[in-house]
Amino acid sequence: MSPNAPAALPDPGRDAASGQPVPARKSKSKEGAQAKAGAPARPAASAAQQALQKMGLVRDIDLALHLPLRYEDETRITLLRNAREGDTVQIEATVIHSEVQLRPRRMLKVTVDDGTAECVLTFFSFYPSHQKTLSVGARLRIRGEVKGGFWGRQMMHPAFRAAGGELPTALTPVYPTVAGLPQAYIRRAAATALLRADLSDTLPAGEQPPVARLHGHGGLPALFSLHDALQFLHHPTPEVALSTLEDHSHPAWQRLKAEELLAQQLSQYEAKRERARLRAPVLRAGAQPDGLTQRFLQQLPFGLTAAQQRVVAEIRADMARRVPMHRLLQGDVGSGKTVVAALSAVACIDAGWQCALMAPTEILAEQHFGKLVGWLEPLLAPLGKRVAWLAGAQKKKERAQMLALVESGEAALVIGTHAVIQEQVQFKNLALAVIDEQHRFGVAQRLALRQKLAATGMEPHLLMMSATPIPRTLAMSYYADLDVSTIDELPPGRTPIVTKLIADSRKDEVIERIGAQVASGRQVYWVCPLIEESEALDLSNATATHAYLSEMLPGVMVGLLHSRMPTAEKKAVMELFSAGVMGVLVSTTVIEVGVDVPNASLMVIEHAERFGLSQLHQLRGRVGRGAAASACVLLYSVGDSGRLGETAKDRLRAMAETNDGFEIARRDLEIRGPGEFLGARQSGAPMLRFADLEQDTLLLDWARELAPRMLEQHPQLAQRHVSRWLGGKAEFLKA
Ligand code: ADP
Ligand code: MG
Repeated sequence: MSPNAPAALPDPGRDAASGQPVPARKSKSKEGAQAKAGAPARPAASAAQQALQKMGLVRDIDLALHLPLRYEDETRITLLRNAREGDTVQIEATVIHSEVQLRPRRMLKVTVDDGTAECVLTFFSFYPSHQKTLSVGARLRIRGEVKGGFWGRQMMHPAFRAAGGELPTALTPVYPTVAGLPQAYIRRAAATALLRADLSDTLPAGEQPPVARLHGHGGLPALFSLHDALQFLHHPTPEVALSTLEDHSHPAWQRLKAEELLAQQLSQYEAKRERARLRAPVLRAGAQPDGLTQRFLQQLPFGLTAAQQRVVAEIRADMARRVPMHRLLQGDVGSGKTVVAALSAVACIDAGWQCALMAPTEILAEQHFGKLVGWLEPLLAPLGKRVAWLAGAQKKKERAQMLALVESGEAALVIGTHAVIQEQVQFKNLALAVIDEQHRFGVAQRLALRQKLAATGMEPHLLMMSATPIPRTLAMSYYADLDVSTIDELPPGRTPIVTKLIADSRKDEVIERIGAQVASGRQVYWVCPLIEESEALDLSNATATHAYLSEMLPGVMVGLLHSRMPTAEKKAVMELFSAGVMGVLVSTTVIEVGVDVPNASLMVIEHAERFGLSQLHQLRGRVGRGAAASACVLLYSVGDSGRLGETAKDRLRAMAETNDGFEIARRDLEIRGPGEFLGARQSGAPMLRFADLEQDTLLLDWARELAPRMLEQHPQLAQRHVSRWLGGKAEFLKA
């Protein structure tokens, strides 16, 4: 790079988070003099310390792995003559003129000359101390962006300090930071941590990752250690091609990504090995022809699809083993996961054990309860068994009764919300736990369910169900420890849902269409958006829509459902809608998951642009459950800006283009990235910070291949590696 090459970095001289100019150098004694007017005063160490902690930068190694966002080149002095418009440069020059102008506004104008050219520095905010430093005759080191112009070269608010002193030999790192944590502080902390942290290699000898060697190592030896890589990334030599640092293709970056992926794979394999040591009840279903399963299938009003039969077989095979099942059942909305859960429960009950089914909302749990009681009680009654119900909003007496049933074992199946995992709930012999819409639950809740058999030293089998399929790349990395069954076929006789995007200025046409649907005996959902900032607003919005639709649709029963309603009221509304009495159901997103009313054939989603892709797909899945042709109308509003944002447009387009939940999940991942897709809450797993599963496939393959061998042959190194990279978070991966 020639000395006057344009800076490849976007906005040097600014603090990443606050946008405040950063001091040109971090030399402590000078800091007061070079601090800029308006720049935050250096906070007390404890405040900065707290900010560090909040960012998860606790251990030395955490800081060593906290890598710069970009770099500033302070290693050279540029001659003003060579500085081009737009370059961010460092110059050394003498002040030849300095004055405070009052028009058009108060500002300090300082002219400097480095012997090759002049440059005017402009400051809109300044203190007397600055004026003093910038007085005529002073020789300064100045760093800023050069603007050309009619009046010659200029810099606005450059950083400055007295000239002289050695130039650094490495680029200056600019770290991601937060308010209250100045660059200067985090730079010092990172530099100290880099010296103190134990960075000895944890890769077994001879197990170098396949790091690209093509474009040279830019200052690194051909074989380098983690220590070398980190040292380089914090303080790269000025010759490095900055683009390779920016796009993370530099060998030092590749090395870090490889190590990160290895840590993740190790913890996954370790979790798998630990699970293999656990024990679960062996559930062999009764083989007799009049077994529960046979009777269940006989009374079912439909036959299973081939896909349902296949996944039921997979689940049963797992449950017949003495290692706890850890299986995800994924299938698009409406693919019929509930009956698979029921059949799994039947197998468990038939073997003489208890089963629990947990759903994220009371409405959904209640629907399961209604359905499963209908299917199972006729089979359970002759055995003196029944289905128990547990929910938060339950009368004390009823709850006590249910708890007794669970404890005695008379309840062969327990259905409910989070209430199922509470401590007071004592199972007699829980052998199978089914979690519906598993992505709505956290790690802690899954762990709690698994604890429910702890007294026997065993764990129940775990079946998780989700309509949001995990894309393959994520399945391979984050969920390497999970077995997956997929229902890839919808029950017969469904007509595909037609999705239409309609501007909300045409709302009244849509309402007309609702009238026609209801007149022909169909039912309609109308979903109001969640307004993040205010639940109250959310409610008033839904209430207003409810009033408006009631007025526009005389003679049609329009109901309202929202999360703040008392349970009994919710239940009453759902019953009227399920029974077909209510034509239109206005709701907030409470109906998002699992609600099953086959006669509903039109779904209207207001302000669809505010919803996430998976959420829209879930909502749409509430219709198209019967044989009638169904439609989903996505009403969008362009708001004040007059147009939709790009991601909103992408989402709505994806919805209109496909009904396939897998395709939707793939696009969702593309639009949102894995971190958000999984949600830290769901996975509990720390997201990959550096590696990209789509791009770094070579490194992922390397990590996947090495991890099991490393656990086998170098367990200590493996352990050190995981704790270095994941710290305390490794435990979470096991849930
Ligand atoms: P999801 O996978 O979204 O949880 P459900 O289990 O709620 O789907 O099933 C959707 C609807 O399809 C329900 O009304 C269910 O009774 C029905 N269903 C499930 N399996 C079949 C099948 N094999 N044939 C016909 N209808 C089925
Ligand atoms: Mg369901």
